[in-house]
Formats: sequence, structure tokens, C-alpha cells
Amino acid sequence: MSGIVIVGAQWGDEGKGKIVDVFSAKADYVVRYQGGANAGHTLVVNGVKTVLHLVPSGILHPETNCIIASGVVIDIEGLVKEIETLKSNGYLANPKQLLISDSATIILPYHKVLDAAREKALDGAKIGTTGKGIGPAYEDRAARRAIVLSDIFEKDTLKEKLELALLEKNALFQSTYKLESVNVDELMKWIAPLAEKLAPYRSRDTSAVVHKAIKNGKKVLFEGAQGTLLDILHGTYPYVTSSSTVAGSACIGTGIGPTSISKVIGIMKAYTTRVGSGPFPTELKDELGERMRSQGHEFGATTGRPRRCGWLDLVALRYAIRVNGITNLALIKMDVLTGLDKIGVCTAYELDGEIIHEFPSKAADLERIKPVIEYMPGWKEDLTKLTNLKDLPRTATSYIDFIGNQLGAPIDVISVGPGREQTLWVKPLFTN
Ligand code: GDP
Repeated sequence: MSGIVIVGAQWGDEGKGKIVDVFSAKADYVVRYQGGANAGHTLVVNGVKTVLHLVPSGILHPETNCIIASGVVIDIEGLVKEIETLKSNGYLANPKQLLISDSATIILPYHKVLDAAREKALDGAKIGTTGKGIGPAYEDRAARRAIVLSDIFEKDTLKEKLELALLEKNALFQSTYKLESVNVDELMKWIAPLAEKLAPYRSRDTSAVVHKAIKNGKKVLFEGAQGTLLDILHGTYPYVTSSSTVAGSACIGTGIGPTSISKVIGIMKAYTTRVGSGPFPTELKDELGERMRSQGHEFGATTGRPRRCGWLDLVALRYAIRVNGITNLALIKMDVLTGLDKIGVCTAYELDGEIIHEFPSKAADLERIKPVIEYMPGWKEDLTKLTNLKDLPRTATSYIDFIGNQLGAPIDVISVGPGREQTLWVKPLFTN
């Protein structure tokens, strides 16, 4: 078994992209299995920034095969742009390095229009979607009227399927949202050049490719998007994304069995952030939160939206460890906490006068809880140049030890900056 899942242990934006990039130097395959272009992974290699939304982060290593599996929803226009940018930056010289599942759902402009129209109509009660059409595309998948990648290469099938998919949508656009209806022929003209550009990457069966790789002992990394608390079933519903973000989704989205997974790495920031609406128990709405936002550059890679910031929440993290089956942790952005006199950590919640240690399943309870915060001494030293764990300030080590002990999972990697080299190794990934 050589399948390792990398999953966000908080509300997304934990720095999964950097960790996948670092590990993918040693991986044979990197697989994206859920979500769409609402994830924005930011990678910094030799000071050059690359933002990836759909293509797996492993693409920056020419020897690593990258797969976009069936569970992903693909914005075909965005994907073509991403591929072209990668190519013009000297990556993806060999088209065989990227395989896209023929059965992945595709996102078309009408999904985005619907997303925006609904969000506008909701007004005060916004979910905080990124407006990328992801939710409507997943809805279509469940309603069995999705357009899948293979459809865009077969004109007749595409026309038939688009007509069916647009029946209801056009009625909705005209009557409810007072928008123009979508013309199928025009849409097909828009799709044709994109299909041509994606043709070299299509794969009839990515599940079989991954299965074979694992069977042959290849190292396969499954790259999660967003975070545990945004999971459609296990997140802070309804303030969640439209796909399953927990580690089990790697199996479902790829089409492999759970027995193929040997490790689940949970990526966590040294503090907590959240984008958009929804409960956030440890949020700091003061200058401390402001400081984390500016020091940590906490603005969305996709939308540019400012992220809400707060102390580390161990209750939420214990929950993430449970629902994902996290075996190992990576602690990111330790450098951002430099300069604070004291650092808060939430160790429990208070709900209606009672101390609880479990994450409430009801979002409404989560809105009402008060976090129990313990404070630890901070450090003043710059961590960004460190290359060895031993050189961490004593108070930083105590903070890390405290987190590891409280969570009961080993912290294998500590990150002290966005660059590949700013990574303190505790334990290599591909060993037991
Ligand atoms: P992802 O979606 O989980 O990959 O996270 P994002 O890419 O949205 O956010 C992580 C951001 O933090 C990116 O801009 C990274 O370059 C940056 N980053 C990753 N690790 C570190 C770190 O240890 N310290 C700092 N300061 N930035 C980091």
C-alpha cells in the first residue's frame, strides 16, 4: 500500500499546496479527487509564485504524474488557461504528465451564472460561495444531468445532453432570475476550441491508472482541496462546500478502495482561518486577528477575500483527526506567530455553562459556544531562515509539543515559510 492522503484539517487554506509540492518530489503520482477551481494552491519555487486551481501541485516536478480524477468538477476554460500558463513557464512539456478523467463533471458558464444569481438573491444569508459554479455542477451530477469530460468530444451526445441540462436552467433563468436563456449552439461553439486543447490530456479510466500504480508499489499522493470543516456532510453545515473534503473522499473521487490508503496527513496552520460566513469559535475580531491576517497574507488565492483569523482550535482539530483518520500532522505557518507575547490555544468549549471537549455537530451550537483559551509564551526570533528543528526557540518547541500532546498525533513536518526550503523535517513521508 502506498497511497497517502493529504487533507486540510481546518477550514481550508492550510498550506496543503506547499506540502504536496514538497512531498511530490518523492511521489510517482499526485491525484486531485474532489472540489474544483475554488481551491487555490499557492506554490513558491525559487521565489517564483505559481497558483494552481485544478492541476495537482505535483506538476512542478517533471517526473511526477498528475491526475485529475472523476470526483473533481472541472472549469474547462480555467483549466485550459492553467495548462497554458504552466506550459509558458516551462512546465508540462510532456502532455502525458497530466491525465484528466473522462468521467469528471465539467463546469460550464451557466453553472457560474446560476451560482452568482443565487448568491445575489440570498443577499444577507450568503453561504459565501466562490461563485465558480462548483455547487451547481455537483447538483447536476447528483441529478444525473451533468456534462462529463468525454461528452465534449462527441458533438451529438453533447448537444443532446446540453438540451436536457438546460431545460430546467433556462426556465429558471428567465422566470426567477430575469436572465437571458442559454443558447445550445452558441455554447457548443464556445466549448469546441477548449475541447481541442484538452484532448491530449483526457484519460478513459484514471481509476485503473491509480489502481495499477498502487498495486505496483508506486508512491501515490492524494491531494485534498479545501478543509475538513467545509465537508458537505461533516463540516459546519450549511456553511460548507458542495463536495466531501474528508480523507475518505480520496477513495470515492478516484475510484479506489480504502485498503489502498496507508497514511492520512492532516495539514494545519499554527492558528486558524476561515473564509466567508459560518461559525468560527476562536475568531479574533481585534487587532490581533488583523495582525495575523497581514503577517500571514491571509487573503484568498482564488477570490482575494480577506480570511477571518483566530487562535488554534484543538477541539476542531481533534474532530478533524477523528473524521479523517489522520495519522500524522504537518504544522504550517509557525513563522506567522513570531513576535506575539503570548499565544492562545483553544483546548475546550463552553456550551450553556458546561465544558465540552467534542466538536458540536450542530452549527447553531457552534455559534453559541465560548472557547476555553490557554495561553503560552510566544517568541521573538525570526523562524523563516531556520533549517533545523534544533534551532527553534524553546518557546516555539513548547508550543509544538503542547499541540502534539493534546492532539495525540505525531507532528511530522513543520513549515516556517512559503518556500520549499523553509520546511523542517521531522520524519520522511514515504516510510512507515
Ligand atoms: P492551500 O489551499 O491549503 O494550499 O493553502 P493556500 O495556498 O491558499 O494558502 C497557503 C498560503 O500560505 C500560500 O500563500 C503559501 O505560499 C503560504 N505558506 C505555506 N506555508 C507557509 C509557511 O509555513 N509560512 C508562511 N508564512 N506562508 C506559508
